[in-house]
Amino acid sequence: MSESVLNNYAQIYVDLLLNKSRYDQWDMNWFTEGPFWRRTSMKFSRTYKTIPDYEIGNLKHGKSLTDIVSDAAQLEKDIAAYARTAPQEEKVRVQYLVEHSHQLSVRARLLAGEQMPYDEMTRELYCLVAPRREERAFARALEDMGTALPGVGSAAEKIARFRQQIRIPREHLLRVCREVARTFHDMSRQHMDIAENNMPRIRVRELPGSMQFLSVLFGYDYDRIEYERNFNLNYPWTVDNLVECIAHECEPGHLVYFEKRTKAFIDTGWPEMSVVSQHTASNAFSEGAARHAITMCFDNDLEKMRDYEREVVFAGAGLDKGLAEVMPQWHRFCEAAGYGKLEATRNLWDGVWTKEEAGAFLERYSFNDLGTGVETLERAPDDAGHFAAHDYARDVVRAYFNDVAPTIAEQWKLYEDLCGDDFSMAGIADHSYRPLPLGIW
Ligand SMILES: [Zn+2]
Repeated sequence: MSESVLNNYAQIYVDLLLNKSRYDQWDMNWFTEGPFWRRTSMKFSRTYKTIPDYEIGNLKHGKSLTDIVSDAAQLEKDIAAYARTAPQEEKVRVQYLVEHSHQLSVRARLLAGEQMPYDEMTRELYCLVAPRREERAFARALEDMGTALPGVGSAAEKIARFRQQIRIPREHLLRVCREVARTFHDMSRQHMDIAENNMPRIRVRELPGSMQFLSVLFGYDYDRIEYERNFNLNYPWTVDNLVECIAHECEPGHLVYFEKRTKAFIDTGWPEMSVVSQHTASNAFSEGAARHAITMCFDNDLEKMRDYEREVVFAGAGLDKGLAEVMPQWHRFCEAAGYGKLEATRNLWDGVWTKEEAGAFLERYSFNDLGTGVETLERAPDDAGHFAAHDYARDVVRAYFNDVAPTIAEQWKLYEDLCGDDFSMAGIADHSYRPLPLGIW
């Protein structure tokens, strides 16, 4: 009886999310209509992106943003009322629905023009509030990187030069992308239950310069996702962001998450498992975990990751392998840059800095090359919480994993279980949550 009540609430949640996607075009990261789906015609474009990766047609029509705001508020109230008397065995699922209906409601209000401070926005959407980082931590990151890099000139000059030196020539992009995707697929399969034929087809093509890749979904069923990923030849790929992008977006990152959610949806029939919405706490887990899982592939050891980058990426791209020595330090610098971007977007959102001031801050610490700071912030209005839900989320997830799963084998098991689970992000942040093993509902 009560499961059907919850399924009914969850279906209203999914319908509202789909309707909201008309006003929030990058929100739906994944959506499964039923137990399987297959593309049956070639009437699609490889030159623009649709989200989800196929046309959902009428499912997103029928409600104005005002309707969504009021219906989401009602849903939130109804689920909160149910939660007060929910039986113990439903607590985790009910808490997930309480949080996610609230996040839907907040996101809809923001789209309708409501304003709130940055920290409140990230707490309401992701259950995360990133602590502030002092400017002197950024100054130290810049200085340390400058010291570690070879050659002459200021730290800023050395960093700008290094970015050029680790840039992958376009004629090698396809080969490197395929090899990286293949090795991360193999490493993921070694640690998790993932089908052999799940590796996306890797292509390269000319796309608008700011776009990293374009995906085309051809089908899915229980444990199979048939994806094509087109990497942009015009994007300035460096060794670190190519590795990060492939591992994060494909395996062991989002593709594994989508697969495990689809399995969970089919195993349980719970509608909320059929969607992955960008502006939610479960997705902040997925973003943070997709980043942490990259280092898990190298036993959380940046030296091992450097060896891989040197032998596979530097070698495959025809780059100077001697430069790979500084990659561990470079990854630490990139992490500091992520926090710099978080401060820039927070101060921009809160009206403390103008876009020009925030851009100048990013360039001052070489988190962006000269003249590109403002450009980075252009996407800020659509996804202002990005760096809280990715960079800070990674550190929240990493701290939780290191605390509750001390060995690498335990971390892989934890990651796989959590991908198919409907937990609360609050329980990850305060380290109180333990998942049930997959297959027990
Ligand atoms: Zn992501």
